[in-house]
Amino acid sequence: MTTTAPDQPRVLVPGLLMLGPGVERYRVTGGGATVLALDAGDELEIVDPEGRQPCELVAFDANGRSDPNLLGSADAPGSGNGSRARSTEEPAAVGILSAELQDARRVRVGLERAGVDLAALRAATPLRVLGDDTAPGARTRVVAHDDVACVIVAPGEPMSAHGGAPATDLIAYVHRRDVTRSSTEPLLPAPLADPSQDFIIRNSTARAYEVAKGDWFQVVDVEGRQCSDFQCFAVADLEAGADLCLDATITRTLMGASCPAPGLYSKFFNARMQPLVEVVQDTVGRHDTFNTACNARYYEEMGYPGHVNCTENINNELGPYGVARRRGWEAINFFYNTNLDDHNQIHLDEPWSRPGDYVLLRALEDLVCVSTSCPDDIDAANAWNPTDIAVRVYPSANRFKKATAIRMTADSEAQLTKETGFHPRTSGLTRSFSEYCGYWLADSYTA
Ligand SMILES: [Zn+2]
Repeated sequence: MTTTAPDQPRVLVPGLLMLGPGVERYRVTGGGATVLALDAGDELEIVDPEGRQPCELVAFDANGRSDPNLLGSADAPGSGNGSRARSTEEPAAVGILSAELQDARRVRVGLERAGVDLAALRAATPLRVLGDDTAPGARTRVVAHDDVACVIVAPGEPMSAHGGAPATDLIAYVHRRDVTRSSTEPLLPAPLADPSQDFIIRNSTARAYEVAKGDWFQVVDVEGRQCSDFQCFAVADLEAGADLCLDATITRTLMGASCPAPGLYSKFFNARMQPLVEVVQDTVGRHDTFNTACNARYYEEMGYPGHVNCTENINNELGPYGVARRRGWEAINFFYNTNLDDHNQIHLDEPWSRPGDYVLLRALEDLVCVSTSCPDDIDAANAWNPTDIAVRVYPSANRFKKATAIRMTADSEAQLTKETGFHPRTSGLTRSFSEYCGYWLADSYTA
């Protein structure tokens, strides 16, 4: 009898909602914080998977006023997990969110959108749930008595070399009172910083937009498994009458890869071999640079004449900029899952992108860009269900770390690439770093 090792757990259909209606899941990083909006009657369930991890909650109402009584206990009597205490100390969130780190900035932006600044947070009275002595798997529930912005903190100090309990992650489940909410309002991830442009490209449409040199822009797959074709032109070229878009062949050649990725080989080039954009963060790692955007001919040959298509949508958006119409737009197809197999066939499958996955790019010139929300519903490109794409532009003064996302197992949370403890030293010796199992490792000291 042949025995085979069991496979690692895997996600069968990424992007599908696995939780029940009205239930959302968030991770609070150990030593970190997150902010969520709760409506009156929503329940927040905090789970401590590893045990001994305290949790601090700070709630603000619509006027930015903090009150621990905005959150009531919803634990079953006798559950033993409902230890709640008002803390007299300054909220741990203040120290965490004061840091000049990307994750801290992201939470601060979320709070500021709810009308709360650091001074208000400093003056707030936090509610402590769970504790230093909770068992692994302990959970507790609170209920929102009003519409609130709730800061959830997993406080902790860096682990000392001679022991102590390190801060570990908490999982937060939101049980919405209105179970239709999550299906009618797809939840966008919080912006990475305060955006200067923030818009949705509705499914089966496209939009042109301008991005200044040095600005950052983020293309977000809102609901998962949705492709977004991208093209851009240097404004200076367009003004000179030169119709020079990104050239995928030149990009692949110069980068030595089927698609640029965050790190050294991260730039997209036009036909003059001029870099126009750089990818800074990518939480998916599978995009298409082989094929054109979908076009009328493709749909005709597949038996769907007249089908709305990305090429026509791009033509219509770029017309006002004097760009000539194309039969099939060469494009960088973000989230489109294609590759070349051993039999020289370009194959496609459902995108790897999950809800909220994104690419973050930086404009290396003043650019006219166009992004689509692909209308392809006749094959696996968008998992047979075209949905929306979100685009956000962030001013150049922001700083974002280079990162891809890694999941240690298929069903674990994605984490952006981290720097090792040696990075301050090694980064002074080389710029040649490769992503390896979630960390940037120097692979050569000659560069
Ligand atoms: Zn398309």
